[in-house]
Amino acid sequence: MVIGIDIDDTLTDSKIEIINAWKDYYRLYDLGTYTDKVPSNINTGWNDKYIRQFWDLYRTEIASRVKLKENAAEALYKLKLNGHVIKIVTARPEDQRLVTLRCLKSQLLTYDELVLQARYKGKTCLEHGVELHIDDTQMNLDDIASYGIKTLLFKENDNWNDVYKKILNISRNSK
Ligand SMILES: [Mg+2]
Repeated sequence: MVIGIDIDDTLTDSKIEIINAWKDYYRLYDLGTYTDKVPSNINTGWNDKYIRQFWDLYRTEIASRVKLKENAAEALYKLKLNGHVIKIVTARPEDQRLVTLRCLKSQLLTYDELVLQARYKGKTCLEHGVELHIDDTQMNLDDIASYGIKTLLFKENDNWNDVYKKILNISRNSK
C-alpha cells in the first residue's frame, strides 16, 4: 500500500516549536488583534498576512528544530519491512526541501519520497498514488477522503506504536 504521512504534529512534535516562535513573533512585531497565543488557523490561514509573515520568518528555524515523535522512526521502518511505500506529504514549501531532508535524515527516518507544497492534500495524494493518508489536521483528511482515499487522523496523544497497528489493520482489511 502507498501510505502518505504528514510531517508537522504527525511525525514530529512541531507544536512546541510553533508556540515558542509565535511568542517571539508577538514580542517583535505589531500583530493587530492577535495575542501571544498561537491562532487556531496557524496551519490553514494562508490568506492571512500575519500568518503568512510568521511562516516566512520562522518556518526554516522551526523545520530544522522539530523532533520526531516517540516510535515514529521505528514504525516507518517496520512499515517499509512490511512492503509498504511511504510518501511524506507536507504543505511545507519547496524552499524547505533541504532543511526538511536534513532534519529527517539526522533522525534516521525511513521513507521513499518527500512531497512538498501540498496545500491541497487531496489533489496531491491522488497525483502521487497515495492509498491511505495519516494527518493531524481533519480539514486535510476531509479533502483527501473526498478523492476516495482512505484517511487516518493522528490525534495529539496518539503513539506511533498504536498507529502502526492501525495501519496494518487498514491494509489487511483493504485487500
Ligand atoms: Mg500537521
